[in-house]
Amino acid sequence: MSELPPKTHNLGALSQELIAKGRHYYVPNYKPREMILDHGKGSTVWDLDGQDYIDLGSGIAVCSLGHQDPDLLAALDTQSRKLWHTSNIFFTEPPIRLAEKLVESSGFAKKVFFSNSGAEANEAAIKLARKYAADQGKPPEKRNIISFNGSFHGRTLATVTLTAQPKYQIGFEPTPAGFIYCDIFNDEAAIEALVDDSICAIFVEPVQGEGGVMPAKAGFLKHLRALCDKVGALLIVDEIQAGLGRTGTLFAYEQDGIKPDVVTLAKALGGGLPIGAMLVGDKAADVLQFGTHGTTFGGNPVMAAVALASVTKLATPAIAANVKKQGDALRKGLEAINAELGLFKEIRGRGLMIGAELVAEHAGKSGDISELARKEGTLVLVAGPNVMRFLPPLVITDAELAEGLKRFKAALMKYKAGIA
Ligand SMILES: *Cc1c(COP(=O)(O)O)cnc(C)c1O
Repeated sequence: MSELPPKTHNLGALSQELIAKGRHYYVPNYKPREMILDHGKGSTVWDLDGQDYIDLGSGIAVCSLGHQDPDLLAALDTQSRKLWHTSNIFFTEPPIRLAEKLVESSGFAKKVFFSNSGAEANEAAIKLARKYAADQGKPPEKRNIISFNGSFHGRTLATVTLTAQPKYQIGFEPTPAGFIYCDIFNDEAAIEALVDDSICAIFVEPVQGEGGVMPAKAGFLKHLRALCDKVGALLIVDEIQAGLGRTGTLFAYEQDGIKPDVVTLAKALGGGLPIGAMLVGDKAADVLQFGTHGTTFGGNPVMAAVALASVTKLATPAIAANVKKQGDALRKGLEAINAELGLFKEIRGRGLMIGAELVAEHAGKSGDISELARKEGTLVLVAGPNVMRFLPPLVITDAELAEGLKRFKAALMKYKAGIA
């Protein structure tokens, strides 16, 4: 246990210079912490001044294999010395191999479209759903898309409109038409009331990430599957955060016993490099015909080579076993801390996607606690103002997790003692 008061962390001259320049030159849409991260290994990262941090956020569910994974490094090294980019006018080997791997692992998909990010994968899925309906002769007013309160699907104009949280949309109106929100996630009656033949797709996260780490309840995705089938709509599962092993299976929807029509991936797919994917099942596999959609960088061979190494490793039983083991340990560790400090009203999630919701008295303080944790040497995320969010690398070791929890507890003790 660290001693009170908080560790003093002196920023060196270079860190200070860079932070000042970052604040000066960047559009102020982010609020980066007072440090310059410099390198990482496994589940630990270091700043320029030599301070180490246990990484319990994986750069928001991206670095699922930790930092400097040897297989990812080897894939990057090999492909980076061969060919960097060709555009989609030409075939290259890595994205073909990656598409094959994704289709064969998915159990439903027939075809894949590669993007550069999660938002672009969802943007592709929105366009696919609209075109699917159009091909069936449905007019634009019968091409509505439903999403759930608390969802997060991206920041482009269409995906932020799909994101059913007003805080992300305010000031960006007029937003695109054709999006309908279901006010209550996990409520059968609420969604049933909205579904008719004017709906072309339902988007759902198997575990809502940004919205507070809220898992879909047992049977809910099955219910959505049945509703979609009834009206001929596509069930689109956004696995950008929950997918690729994080919740204990390669795809989170596997645990719900359904076959989606479309699944979107990004974040962990490239292990730290930008790549997204849209996986499409039978029904809509051929909707996006020549010329209907595209992107310059999507399926770039360097990204795809690293992503193939990433998916191959994330699909192994060793990863699933570690997710189970460390997920249990993380949950137990947080429960033990909470038994002592009483700050959380609920600890929830699946696998290594865990949220700890603050009790009413401490509502709104997740950001302060995350910053205190950083000062103690552990990086934790928030999911809104009331929930601490933990998304450690899926390869985190016993020792790293124990140290991360120890530092997090020290931060909570300081928070309680009022030393912020
Ligand atoms: C992060 C995220 C996105 C957006 O991905 P970007 O790569 O940031 O565009 C979409 N959906 C979910 C569930 C996410 O967590």
